[in-house]
Amino acid sequence: MLIYTLLILFAMQFFVVFLSQALEDYYVTNFSRTLESQGLLLVNFLERYLTDSDGINTINAIDSLVWEYSRHTEITDIMVLDAFGRVISSTRNKNELQGQRIIQEEVTRALTGTRSESVRLDPETKERTKYLALPVNSGERNQGVVYLIGSLEPIYDTLHEIQLILLTGVLMVIAITVLLGFFVAKTITDPIQEVTSKAEQFAHGDFRQRINIASDDEIGRLGRMFNYLSEQLETTLQEISSEKNKVEAILNNMTDGIVALTADGELLHVNSTAKKLLALPQTAEGELEKLAPLVEPVDMAVLLQEGKQEEREIVLGAKIIQAYYVPLLAAEETFGYGGVLIVLHDVTQEREMMRIQREFVANVSHELRTPLTTLKSYTETLLAGAMKQEDICRSFLTTMEKETERMVRLVKDLLVLSQLDYRQIGWHKDYYYLNDLIKEVVNDLKIKNKEDPRQIVLSLPDEPLTAYVDRDKMKQVFLNLIQNAYMYTTRGGKINISLLQQEDVLLIEIADNGIGIPAEDLERVFERFYRVDKARSREYGGTGLGLPIAREIVNAHGGTISLQSELNKGTTVTITLPLPAKEDEQCESA
Ligand code: ADP
Repeated sequence: MLIYTLLILFAMQFFVVFLSQALEDYYVTNFSRTLESQGLLLVNFLERYLTDSDGINTINAIDSLVWEYSRHTEITDIMVLDAFGRVISSTRNKNELQGQRIIQEEVTRALTGTRSESVRLDPETKERTKYLALPVNSGERNQGVVYLIGSLEPIYDTLHEIQLILLTGVLMVIAITVLLGFFVAKTITDPIQEVTSKAEQFAHGDFRQRINIASDDEIGRLGRMFNYLSEQLETTLQEISSEKNKVEAILNNMTDGIVALTADGELLHVNSTAKKLLALPQTAEGELEKLAPLVEPVDMAVLLQEGKQEEREIVLGAKIIQAYYVPLLAAEETFGYGGVLIVLHDVTQEREMMRIQREFVANVSHELRTPLTTLKSYTETLLAGAMKQEDICRSFLTTMEKETERMVRLVKDLLVLSQLDYRQIGWHKDYYYLNDLIKEVVNDLKIKNKEDPRQIVLSLPDEPLTAYVDRDKMKQVFLNLIQNAYMYTTRGGKINISLLQQEDVLLIEIADNGIGIPAEDLERVFERFYRVDKARSREYGGTGLGLPIAREIVNAHGGTISLQSELNKGTTVTITLPLPAKEDEQCESA
């Protein structure tokens, strides 16, 4: 607004100065012309008088002419001078000046026959006066001078008045302009201020700001564009944040751990799986030192330089973690790689499975090697001629049959285990009396070992207890366990088998007073092929798979199996089975 006002002021000033100059020129020129034409008229009249002068009459005639003349003109003073510059007649101080020589510059020049004029400023009164001296020529001779003196003050007074009017006008125009300018400026600055303040809020993240559009001009268009911009930004930001949430949800729910590091080794992101794997606190995203085992195995600088992917296996306590290092491309402006993405995959279980598998294969081959070696050497001996001696032949063949039986049992047990592992086994579950199942197993064993002095004591409830089981599988479990009790109990030993219902489970206990198991082996007896005393187990035809099979079957029935033992005192195996869902179900007789 200031600039606007100054511009108008400047234009007005220019206009006033120019106008007053033009007016001054016009008035002064006009005055000069009038003065000159009047002077020339007078010169014409006077020429006659001055040429044929007849003394006092002429002077009187000139006097009256001048007097007459001055009455009709605005010229202040008229003087008529003779050829020597002496005053003949004057409208000012006639008596004092008559006969006096006027030696003004213009007069002197006019006496030489040249018209002369000038404007002079009275140093005292500060009045401007115009002097015009016109020669009165007759032929070649100069007869006198008409000297006209006109004050310019009335012109300047008029000019001053005009200037005053103009100045007042200018001031009024400026006042109106300032007032109008203020309102005009306000109509421009107000919307701009609104846009500015909304943009500020915008910068602070508030994208709901909208501008009220009051006009259709540039400012209105600016506001409309601003609103469009904020709408676009808002939707874009929403899209970005929902994308971010999606990515975060994906990252956090991944089974693989994700760690992102900058090129300087600063942590960018770590998902919850990675936090769990690396035992980082779930909340704080710091603790870089805990990432050291992750970062140390790889030379990050080389990785970033070459942009190659790397793979390492890291052991963190009991965990084995496979880590894939992927270089991350930097932002577009910079070249090279800006960070590393580390994908962590927990392979502990896989490795454990592989170990078990390897061990299993080694165990199976080992178990089969002994009987096969026996068979091979016996066959060779028989073929070499031993078969001709009947008693040796019979003894060899008996051993070979025993070994073959053992192998068959081993393979059968393995098959059962593998079926249980791959859940391929067909379960034929139904409601059976457990009392009957146990009795059946014991009777079978008793028939097999007729002369065995080991005593089996059954303590079964009078009321038969029903269980929802696979009959054959359950019999297999009891057989394995009772056989174990038999095997690992010296002659004269005693085996107690009890069945009872305890709260909401069925409890079966097979207790012997046999050789027992050393404390350090207790934990491992349920492992496949694990045997405390291999020679003894083999002697009895054991495979080391009896307990693992029993556990698999009991677990598949929703029950538990545990073993307590004390060396040289005895062993107790405890089985729990869930109660059948329908108590009143008709039981098939065993
Ligand atoms: P095995 O076929 O050798 O009996 P099991 O899996 O049934 O294999 O048992 C594993 C090992 O646990 C046996 O070799 C034996 O050392 C020990 N064991 C099992 N039951 C008894 C028991 N009642 N008394 C003493 N030791 C036992």
